[in-house]
Amino acid sequence: MSRPAPDGSIAARLSAVKAAIAQAAERVERDPGSVRIVAVTKGVGLEPIREALALGLRTLGENRVQEALAKIEALADESPQWHLVGHLQSNKARQAAERFSMVQSIDSVHLVEALAARAQRPLDVLIEVNAGEEPRKTGARPAEVDAIMRAITASPRLRLLGLMAIGPLQGGPEAARPVFRRLRSIRDDLRQRFSLELPELSMGMSEDFPVAVEEGASMLRLGRVLFAASPDRVQASLGPGALPLK
Ligand SMILES: *Cc1c(COP(=O)(O)O)cnc(C)c1O
Repeated sequence: MSRPAPDGSIAARLSAVKAAIAQAAERVERDPGSVRIVAVTKGVGLEPIREALALGLRTLGENRVQEALAKIEALADESPQWHLVGHLQSNKARQAAERFSMVQSIDSVHLVEALAARAQRPLDVLIEVNAGEEPRKTGARPAEVDAIMRAITASPRLRLLGLMAIGPLQGGPEAARPVFRRLRSIRDDLRQRFSLELPELSMGMSEDFPVAVEEGASMLRLGRVLFAASPDRVQASLGPGALPLK
């Protein structure tokens, strides 16, 4: 069977990603429609972002408030949803609360208090958990999650929708599996003990998103696999038979 020529366009990458999501979902009998892509646009210019928006990627992620502000302004007419996925310093809490529809990176009670004091409208949040308990990594320790959850639910403006984790940056996709599983079990446990819904599990990036789908992710945060020249490790995440990415 002949394959179409390699195509480095965002459209081609997105269809390869969707195929990989569908395959992973099928392996565990999940509905692929229950998995949302957050297109992470850090370091990406306005033109590729416009292309992504035109392809139906309506949720965009940035990891720095400062870098995001100019893009949010420039793309305001297209009204995408912006999620902050990187570490937030409390001195940027006001801007974050004004400009983003979701902050995925809540990792301390202190940050919750800063956001709660400055948010003028409802703000969706996720607690970022260092579920692998790796040293020198962002995210709350699992033991801190209860306290952060209580602080969030005490604020009328903040709406807790779930948890986020970053898989280990080394060891390949299978190294991420126990971390994703742990995040899910922390979520399930919170759900049970506090009767919260917590529908969102944001886990899985370019190199490990199929594993994240298998482990129950509701949101994948994808940057390089959509936008950047792709090293082999990213290509590998698309699975056998995927079109080569340039
Ligand atoms: C950059 C980034 C991503 C996307 O990473 P890729 O490996 O490029 O897919 C996801 N989440 C966070 C928190 C990031 O900073």
